Amino acid sequence: MGGDGEAGFVYKVERFCVHDGPGIRTLFYFRGCPLGCLWCCNPESRTLGPIRGEDEFLMWKQPVGVQRLVELACRDVAYYRSSGGGVTLTGGEALAQPEFAANLLRKMRERGIHTAMETSGHAGDEAVETVLPHLDMVLLDIKHMDDGRHKALTGFGNARILSNARKIHDAGVPMTIRVPLIPGHNDREEDLRALGEFVWSALPAVKTLCVLGYHNYAVNKYLAMGLDYPLGDLPPASEERITRAAETLKRYVEEVRMGG
Ligand code: SF4
Repeated sequence: MGGDGEAGFVYKVERFCVHDGPGIRTLFYFRGCPLGCLWCCNPESRTLGPIRGEDEFLMWKQPVGVQRLVELACRDVAYYRSSGGGVTLTGGEALAQPEFAANLLRKMRERGIHTAMETSGHAGDEAVETVLPHLDMVLLDIKHMDDGRHKALTGFGNARILSNARKIHDAGVPMTIRVPLIPGHNDREEDLRALGEFVWSALPAVKTLCVLGYHNYAVNKYLAMGLDYPLGDLPPASEERITRAAETLKRYVEEVRMGG
Protein backbone atom coordinates (compact mmCIF):
# COMPACT_ATOMS: atom_id res chain seq x y z
CA MET A 1 0.00 0.00 0.00
CA GLY A 2 1.32 3.42 -0.85
CA GLY A 3 2.27 5.19 2.38
CA ASP A 4 1.23 8.48 0.79
CA GLY A 5 -2.40 7.39 0.63
CA GLU A 6 -2.42 7.25 -3.17
CA ALA A 7 -3.45 3.59 -3.07
CA GLY A 8 -5.11 1.33 -0.56
CA PHE A 9 -7.16 -1.76 0.05
CA VAL A 10 -10.70 -1.64 -1.29
CA TYR A 11 -12.20 -5.05 -1.88
CA LYS A 12 -15.45 -4.22 -3.64
CA VAL A 13 -17.27 -1.40 -5.38
CA GLU A 14 -21.05 -1.29 -5.76
CA ARG A 15 -22.74 1.17 -8.10
CA PHE A 16 -26.36 2.39 -8.10
CA CYS A 17 -26.96 1.76 -4.39
CA VAL A 18 -29.88 3.45 -2.67
CA HIS A 19 -28.74 2.94 0.92
CA ASP A 20 -25.84 4.20 3.08
CA GLY A 21 -26.54 7.84 2.31
CA PRO A 22 -28.99 9.89 0.22
CA GLY A 23 -29.79 9.35 -3.46
CA ILE A 24 -28.03 6.99 -5.83
CA ARG A 25 -24.54 6.15 -4.57
CA THR A 26 -21.33 4.32 -5.35
CA LEU A 27 -20.10 2.34 -2.34
CA PHE A 28 -16.41 1.65 -1.79
CA TYR A 29 -15.81 -1.26 0.59
CA PHE A 30 -12.57 -0.72 2.49
CA ARG A 31 -10.58 -3.55 4.02
CA GLY A 32 -9.38 -3.50 7.58
CA CYS A 33 -11.52 -3.32 10.72
CA PRO A 34 -10.21 -3.58 14.28
CA LEU A 35 -13.53 -4.78 15.72
CA GLY A 36 -14.80 -8.33 15.69
CA CYS A 37 -18.59 -8.02 15.88
CA LEU A 38 -20.22 -11.40 16.43
CA TRP A 39 -22.69 -10.70 13.60
CA CYS A 40 -20.18 -9.25 11.08
CA CYS A 41 -21.49 -10.02 7.61
CA ASN A 42 -18.23 -9.06 5.89
CA PRO A 43 -15.54 -11.21 7.57
CA GLU A 44 -13.50 -11.08 4.37
CA SER A 45 -13.04 -7.34 4.91
CA ARG A 46 -11.52 -7.34 8.36
CA THR A 47 -7.81 -7.75 7.63
CA LEU A 48 -5.52 -6.13 5.08
CA GLY A 49 -3.59 -9.36 4.64
CA PRO A 50 -4.69 -12.66 3.11
CA ILE A 51 -7.24 -14.80 4.91
CA ARG A 52 -8.42 -18.32 4.26
CA GLY A 53 -11.14 -18.72 1.64
CA GLU A 54 -11.41 -15.00 0.91
CA ASP A 55 -10.82 -15.23 -2.85
CA GLU A 56 -14.36 -15.50 -4.11
CA PHE A 57 -15.46 -12.49 -2.05
CA LEU A 58 -12.76 -10.02 -3.03
CA MET A 59 -12.90 -8.03 -6.25
CA TRP A 60 -9.35 -6.78 -5.65
CA LYS A 61 -6.70 -8.26 -3.33
CA GLN A 62 -3.95 -5.79 -4.23
CA PRO A 63 -3.97 -2.09 -3.38
CA VAL A 64 -6.04 0.04 -5.76
CA GLY A 65 -5.05 3.54 -6.83
CA VAL A 66 -7.20 6.53 -5.84
CA GLN A 67 -7.32 7.68 -9.45
CA ARG A 68 -8.86 4.39 -10.60
CA LEU A 69 -11.60 4.68 -7.98
CA VAL A 70 -12.25 8.31 -8.88
CA GLU A 71 -12.69 7.35 -12.54
CA LEU A 72 -15.07 4.57 -11.54
CA ALA A 73 -17.19 6.86 -9.39
CA CYS A 74 -17.26 9.63 -11.98
CA ARG A 75 -19.08 7.38 -14.45
CA ASP A 76 -22.26 7.97 -12.48
CA VAL A 77 -22.06 11.70 -11.85
CA ALA A 78 -25.30 12.32 -13.76
CA TYR A 79 -27.14 9.91 -11.44
CA TYR A 80 -25.69 11.56 -8.34
CA ARG A 81 -26.79 14.97 -9.60
CA SER A 82 -30.33 13.93 -10.46
CA SER A 83 -30.88 12.00 -7.20
CA GLY A 84 -28.86 13.99 -4.65
CA GLY A 85 -26.48 11.04 -4.29
CA GLY A 86 -22.72 10.57 -4.23
CA VAL A 87 -20.16 8.15 -2.83
CA THR A 88 -19.97 6.33 0.51
CA LEU A 89 -16.95 4.66 2.09
CA THR A 90 -17.91 1.52 3.95
CA GLY A 91 -16.26 -1.77 4.79
CA GLY A 92 -14.56 -3.05 6.80
CA GLU A 93 -13.56 0.29 8.23
CA ALA A 94 -12.44 3.25 6.15
CA LEU A 95 -10.80 4.87 9.21
CA ALA A 96 -8.30 1.99 9.24
CA GLN A 97 -6.75 3.59 6.11
CA PRO A 98 -7.18 7.29 6.87
CA GLU A 99 -4.74 8.87 4.39
CA PHE A 100 -6.11 6.82 1.53
CA ALA A 101 -9.71 7.53 2.55
CA ALA A 102 -9.01 11.27 2.86
CA ASN A 103 -7.37 11.40 -0.57
CA LEU A 104 -10.26 9.61 -2.21
CA LEU A 105 -12.85 11.81 -0.52
CA ARG A 106 -10.95 15.00 -1.34
CA LYS A 107 -10.86 14.12 -5.03
CA MET A 108 -14.59 13.35 -4.98
CA ARG A 109 -15.32 16.70 -3.36
CA GLU A 110 -13.14 18.51 -5.92
CA ARG A 111 -15.52 17.13 -8.54
CA GLY A 112 -18.57 18.34 -6.63
CA ILE A 113 -19.58 14.84 -5.51
CA HIS A 114 -21.30 14.34 -2.13
CA THR A 115 -19.23 12.23 0.27
CA ALA A 116 -20.34 9.97 3.14
CA MET A 117 -18.67 7.40 5.37
CA GLU A 118 -20.27 4.48 7.16
CA THR A 119 -18.12 3.75 10.22
CA SER A 120 -17.88 1.87 13.48
CA GLY A 121 -16.21 4.98 14.92
CA HIS A 122 -13.53 2.79 16.51
CA ALA A 123 -10.43 4.75 15.50
CA GLY A 124 -7.81 7.07 16.95
CA ASP A 125 -8.09 10.86 17.01
CA GLU A 126 -5.60 11.29 14.20
CA ALA A 127 -7.54 9.04 11.81
CA VAL A 128 -10.80 10.87 12.49
CA GLU A 129 -9.16 14.28 12.12
CA THR A 130 -7.58 13.23 8.81
CA VAL A 131 -10.82 12.06 7.23
CA LEU A 132 -13.50 14.29 8.76
CA PRO A 133 -12.74 17.51 6.81
CA HIS A 134 -13.55 15.70 3.56
CA LEU A 135 -16.97 14.38 4.56
CA ASP A 136 -20.46 15.76 3.93
CA MET A 137 -22.09 13.10 6.10
CA VAL A 138 -21.26 10.34 8.59
CA LEU A 139 -23.28 7.20 9.34
CA LEU A 140 -22.00 5.95 12.69
CA ASP A 141 -22.97 2.67 14.34
CA ILE A 142 -23.45 2.45 18.10
CA LYS A 143 -23.80 -1.20 19.00
CA HIS A 144 -24.26 -1.00 22.78
CA MET A 145 -24.10 1.77 25.39
CA ASP A 146 -22.78 -0.55 28.10
CA ASP A 147 -19.00 -0.73 27.84
CA GLY A 148 -18.73 -4.33 29.06
CA ARG A 149 -21.50 -5.59 26.78
CA HIS A 150 -19.91 -3.72 23.88
CA LYS A 151 -16.63 -5.47 24.58
CA ALA A 152 -18.34 -8.86 24.75
CA LEU A 153 -20.07 -8.26 21.41
CA THR A 154 -17.24 -6.63 19.45
CA GLY A 155 -13.95 -7.27 21.28
CA PHE A 156 -13.59 -3.64 22.42
CA GLY A 157 -15.29 -1.23 24.79
CA ASN A 158 -17.24 1.74 23.43
CA ALA A 159 -15.36 4.72 24.93
CA ARG A 160 -13.54 5.59 21.74
CA ILE A 161 -16.69 5.30 19.65
CA LEU A 162 -18.72 7.55 21.93
CA SER A 163 -15.90 10.08 22.05
CA ASN A 164 -15.65 10.09 18.24
CA ALA A 165 -19.42 10.47 17.95
CA ARG A 166 -19.14 13.64 20.03
CA LYS A 167 -16.16 14.85 18.01
CA ILE A 168 -17.97 14.40 14.69
CA HIS A 169 -21.10 16.04 16.08
CA ASP A 170 -19.17 19.01 17.47
CA ALA A 171 -17.37 19.48 14.14
CA GLY A 172 -20.80 20.13 12.59
CA VAL A 173 -20.71 17.24 10.12
CA PRO A 174 -24.25 15.88 9.57
CA MET A 175 -24.50 12.47 11.21
CA THR A 176 -26.97 9.61 11.37
CA ILE A 177 -26.64 7.09 14.20
CA ARG A 178 -27.37 3.46 13.42
CA VAL A 179 -27.90 0.49 15.70
CA PRO A 180 -27.65 -3.07 14.45
CA LEU A 181 -30.46 -4.77 16.38
CA ILE A 182 -29.20 -8.15 17.61
CA PRO A 183 -31.99 -10.12 19.30
CA GLY A 184 -31.24 -10.89 22.93
CA HIS A 185 -27.95 -8.93 22.84
CA ASN A 186 -28.79 -5.23 22.54
CA ASP A 187 -32.54 -4.93 22.05
CA ARG A 188 -33.84 -4.69 25.60
CA GLU A 189 -35.92 -1.60 26.33
CA GLU A 190 -33.21 -0.33 28.70
CA ASP A 191 -30.47 -0.81 26.06
CA LEU A 192 -32.42 1.27 23.57
CA ARG A 193 -33.34 3.92 26.10
CA ALA A 194 -29.66 4.33 26.99
CA LEU A 195 -28.82 4.80 23.32
CA GLY A 196 -31.66 7.28 22.81
CA GLU A 197 -30.65 9.27 25.88
CA PHE A 198 -27.03 9.49 24.71
CA VAL A 199 -28.05 10.74 21.29
CA TRP A 200 -30.56 13.21 22.74
CA SER A 201 -28.16 14.65 25.32
CA ALA A 202 -24.71 14.42 23.69
CA LEU A 203 -25.58 14.66 19.99
CA PRO A 204 -28.51 17.10 19.81
CA ALA A 205 -27.95 17.89 16.13
CA VAL A 206 -28.58 14.25 15.18
CA LYS A 207 -32.10 14.04 13.80
CA THR A 208 -32.15 10.46 12.51
CA LEU A 209 -31.58 7.05 14.06
CA CYS A 210 -31.62 3.90 11.93
CA VAL A 211 -32.49 0.45 13.24
CA LEU A 212 -30.74 -2.26 11.24
CA GLY A 213 -32.35 -5.60 11.98
CA TYR A 214 -29.96 -8.52 12.39
CA HIS A 215 -30.00 -11.09 9.59
CA ASN A 216 -27.98 -14.24 9.12
CA TYR A 217 -27.27 -13.98 5.39
CA ALA A 218 -23.53 -14.32 6.04
CA VAL A 219 -23.70 -17.86 7.44
CA ASN A 220 -22.78 -19.44 4.11
CA LYS A 221 -19.92 -17.01 3.65
CA TYR A 222 -18.43 -18.09 6.99
CA LEU A 223 -18.83 -21.72 5.96
CA ALA A 224 -17.10 -21.10 2.63
CA MET A 225 -14.24 -19.38 4.47
CA GLY A 226 -13.88 -22.28 6.92
CA LEU A 227 -14.98 -20.11 9.85
CA ASP A 228 -17.47 -20.83 12.62
CA TYR A 229 -20.42 -18.45 12.61
CA PRO A 230 -20.25 -16.77 16.04
CA LEU A 231 -23.99 -16.35 16.53
CA GLY A 232 -24.84 -19.94 15.63
CA ASP A 233 -28.50 -20.27 14.71
CA LEU A 234 -29.71 -17.00 16.22
CA PRO A 235 -32.86 -16.11 14.23
CA PRO A 236 -33.09 -12.76 12.39
CA ALA A 237 -34.63 -9.78 14.17
CA SER A 238 -38.40 -10.02 13.72
CA GLU A 239 -40.52 -7.17 12.37
CA GLU A 240 -42.08 -6.97 15.80
CA ARG A 241 -38.74 -6.47 17.58
CA ILE A 242 -37.61 -3.90 15.03
CA THR A 243 -40.87 -1.96 15.30
CA ARG A 244 -40.74 -2.07 19.09
CA ALA A 245 -37.15 -0.74 19.06
CA ALA A 246 -38.14 2.03 16.65
CA GLU A 247 -41.05 3.03 18.90
CA THR A 248 -38.68 3.35 21.89
CA LEU A 249 -36.11 5.38 19.95
CA LYS A 250 -38.74 7.75 18.51
CA ARG A 251 -38.89 9.46 21.90
CA TYR A 252 -35.39 10.85 21.38
CA VAL A 253 -35.02 11.97 17.74
CA GLU A 254 -37.15 13.44 14.96
CA GLU A 255 -36.95 10.39 12.73
CA VAL A 256 -36.33 6.67 13.19
CA ARG A 257 -35.78 4.61 10.06
CA MET A 258 -35.93 0.86 9.78
CA GLY A 259 -32.98 -0.02 7.57
CA GLY A 260 -29.94 1.96 6.45
S1 SF4 B 1 -17.56 -2.89 12.59
FE1 SF4 B 1 -18.52 -3.72 10.73
S2 SF4 B 1 -16.84 -4.61 9.52
FE2 SF4 B 1 -16.08 -4.31 11.61
S3 SF4 B 1 -16.39 -6.26 12.61
FE3 SF4 B 1 -18.17 -4.98 13.07
S4 SF4 B 1 -19.69 -5.47 11.50
FE4 SF4 B 1 -17.68 -6.26 10.77
